[in-house]
Amino acid sequence: MLDLSGQVAIVTGGSRGIGASIAELLARVGADVVITYHRDKRAADRVACEVRSFGPECLVVRADVSKPADVRRTVRAAMKQFGRIDVLVNNAGIWTYGAIGRMSERVWDETLDVNMKGTFLFCNEVVPHMKKRRSGRIINIASTAGQRGEAFHSHYAASKGAMIAFTKSIGPELAPFGILVNNVAPGWVDTDMSASALRVPASLRQVTKGIPNRRVATGEDIAGAVLFLASEFSAHLVGSTISVNGGGVLVG
Ligand code: NDP
Repeated sequence: MLDLSGQVAIVTGGSRGIGASIAELLARVGADVVITYHRDKRAADRVACEVRSFGPECLVVRADVSKPADVRRTVRAAMKQFGRIDVLVNNAGIWTYGAIGRMSERVWDETLDVNMKGTFLFCNEVVPHMKKRRSGRIINIASTAGQRGEAFHSHYAASKGAMIAFTKSIGPELAPFGILVNNVAPGWVDTDMSASALRVPASLRQVTKGIPNRRVATGEDIAGAVLFLASEFSAHLVGSTISVNGGGVLVG
């Protein structure tokens, strides 16, 4: 019943990890996909091959999501190739260590620029196209860190908390135009980003102990929630956050 044939989705940071799983799942239900990458073109090309193996088309664009010119170029390329944008998934993100009292302004700015400003820039470019068609879905990938905070990652938590507040604001602003904006907030997910914590057996055991579902998430677990938000089955969700954390952090 889930069929996004004829629809076009942009997935930022679609070259690896959660973004790659999202791009592949959207393609499996028929959507053409635009994936952006920052540094790893080979990885992006591998995801594009996988997407095309399901039938849909895939456009690969290099873009630093924190740079307005890159974002504009990506949206223009998507419109030129496909003529429409139905779904925007703001997934690209970074997670670095930062102890307060010793965090440089550069580290703070970089995190806020990629995670939050990148989300704003993409929404700002895509919304006028969605408004014209009075239809669209925007799905922002937040984090449990934005819901409950995260010690030694206050810059990351602040960026993700800001994404949640941003979504709660533009959700009601855009719903009258048929554009639905929501968040997915993952807990621990096994990707390159979390490798320093999850690919060390003792640390993985410790993390898993705190998760009632007794495992960390896969990229596919997160992609499933994104697909729901991109589909007709979420037609009455506005500004909400779906927590995909195995019960690890019981926050709404
Ligand atoms: P990965 O580190 O595995 O992948 C990050 C992706 O973002 C890559 O495609 C990378 O591109 C891209 N990217 C990084 N910086 C930029 C930039 N400046 N401009 C454009 N693209 C960029 O991360 P995950 O897949 O784990 O994370 C995806 C999202 O999920 C993030 O927003 C993250 O905060 C969130 N999340 C992840 C959790 C986890 O445990 N993994 C938990 C909660 C939330 P490239 O490879 O080309 O550089």
